[in-house]
Amino acid sequence: MYKRDLMEPLADEIRICRNCGLWRQRKNAVPGEGSLDAAVMLIGEVPGYWEDVKGRPFVGAAGKILDEMLSRAGICRSGVYVTNVVKCRPPENRDPLPSEIETCTPYLDHQIKIVKPKLIATLGRHAASHIVAKAGFETESITRIHWRVYELNLLGFEVFIIPVYHPAAALYNAKYRDELNKDFQLLKPKLERLG
Ligand code: URA
Repeated sequence: MYKRDLMEPLADEIRICRNCGLWRQRKNAVPGEGSLDAAVMLIGEVPGYWEDVKGRPFVGAAGKILDEMLSRAGICRSGVYVTNVVKCRPPENRDPLPSEIETCTPYLDHQIKIVKPKLIATLGRHAASHIVAKAGFETESITRIHWRVYELNLLGFEVFIIPVYHPAAALYNAKYRDELNKDFQLLKPKLERLG
């Protein structure tokens, strides 16, 4: 079966999902987008205002930073798959509740199994702690783990995980722009070695 035949019905299911209360205030759910054959999957946290309006991930201010970081690292955005831990925007951009994460992440698991990336970069602390814990590792603060490369078995296949800071961090604090840049520079050489 083609990956597209698995991902499209899943995205349709996400768009009409009412498994938690976030559907009440959303304009659009944001399933994710990109190449289904991507070697790299980027996992953010939750959609923000513009993502909710457009139904696409990372199209607002944080998305501009993400695009800049990817292009500086020599990675083409259309060649990666981009999604979020939680697919609907929480009201007032609050953090997602643990119950919302728990309810929504079977969708993410399914997406990871369809794309089967070689490398996952988690963007921000929610994505890092969710993925690292899922693989059976102790979760630590993003400031401690953002430079680490984990090689682990996730959902039955081997994958490298690189936790990076959330691109939005660079919007509020210029020092994170350099840190983010360094994190993203880790991705390209790792990918080249993976072949
Ligand atoms: N922040 C995220 O974590 N995800 C998006 O899609 C946009 C902003």
